[in-house]
Amino acid sequence: MSQIDTLPPLREVIATHQLSARKSLGQNFLLDLNLTAKIARQAGDLTGCDVLEIGPGPGGLTRGLLAEGARRVLAVEKDSRCLPVLAEIAQAYPDRLQVINGDALEIDPLEYLTPPVRVVANLPYNVGTELLVRWLTPKAWPPFWQSLTLMFQREVAERIVAQPGSKAYGRLAILAQWRADARIVLALPPGAFTPPPKVSSAVVHLDALAEPRFPADAAVLSRVVAAAFNQRRKMLRASLKGVSPDIEEHLVAAGIAPTERAEQVSLEAFCALARSLKPLV
Ligand code: SAM
Repeated sequence: MSQIDTLPPLREVIATHQLSARKSLGQNFLLDLNLTAKIARQAGDLTGCDVLEIGPGPGGLTRGLLAEGARRVLAVEKDSRCLPVLAEIAQAYPDRLQVINGDALEIDPLEYLTPPVRVVANLPYNVGTELLVRWLTPKAWPPFWQSLTLMFQREVAERIVAQPGSKAYGRLAILAQWRADARIVLALPPGAFTPPPKVSSAVVHLDALAEPRFPADAAVLSRVVAAAFNQRRKMLRASLKGVSPDIEEHLVAAGIAPTERAEQVSLEAFCALARSLKPLV
């Protein structure tokens, strides 16, 4: 294994600091620094960017991000056992790594970040989808981030990039693709991690669009898509009955056959339906 910095190899770091992986914290570590540098490169040009990393753990990806030239890395880690290791990395990269010990679901990192900001993380699976949804649904658009480069269970990654007509197509695809360009950039087998998880993983890269791909009111679109996919086997005239008493007319106005099912409806058509239900002024 080649090294990306002068710090010790990660296996040695983990042994020295007795960082046994904890399942409750979703700890599946990446110990190959070539791989973490490769993930960091998927985020695009990091020079001149602040990077928000959630869950640095023993710091493999953190080291990749710093070695790839991130201006600053702000790392939020829940497990205080990792702090001494991260402090060693901070020392090797003076003034470029700030660590916050806390829960990413409770901390607002914005005050610590200077734009442009890229988010890069090998997230714990239970927290990943929740954070992605939050990052995709801020009060105002464009968001604080320019791009998100995130590790997910492969199945979740496929839901993010799914197209109409596939089983994976649903709320997550609509949410992600409405306001971002999303693509899978790397697939990883369980063996890439220590300990290996039960499932395969994939890195998804999302670039924020300056404006949503099609105009629509965010709250209406969200309500329509939730109702449509909650009963995805039903025809839309039935699954969306609760959204409006005139739903058939709105469906027709949006160019959608009322007998269609959610799975077949494009993002553009969902946005047209949201606009018919609530015209944008
Ligand atoms: N980035 C490291 C790597 O690639 O080897 C570790 C990845 S591991 C899948 C997930 C990391 O997120 C762990 O270090 C875990 O302690 C941390 N974590 C879990 N839940 C968290 C939360 N709610 N907020 C912040 N960090 C969390």
